[in-house]
Amino acid sequence: MRGLPILVLILTGGCVADRRGDQNTCPVHESALQEDTVRILYGLVLRDPDYWAAMKARFPLSNREYLGGCMIGCCSASSAQVRFCARCRQAEAEWWAQYPEALKR
Ligand SMILES: [Zn+2]
Repeated sequence: MRGLPILVLILTGGCVADRRGDQNTCPVHESALQEDTVRILYGLVLRDPDYWAAMKARFPLSNREYLGGCMIGCCSASSAQVRFCARCRQAEAEWWAQYPEALKR
């Protein structure tokens, strides 16, 4: 019994959460989605408000990271399987190239 908590941590710490959902097509680009494993960001993610607006309109399924919310525990996964749109990722990369100062805000 003494080793059980350690075993649980080993089994769950750093595990991969399935966050692929059931969406298969990008609503913006109408492209078929691909799968990837990305890191999960926990807590309040602060980014430039223009970034969030652009994301909604131009690259909603870039999914380079997965936002895990504010609840984190010892069993929280460190990465997630997601579906993404390659054209959204391209659009996001272009946005960051166009507005590099947004990284500093
Ligand atoms: Zn897309």
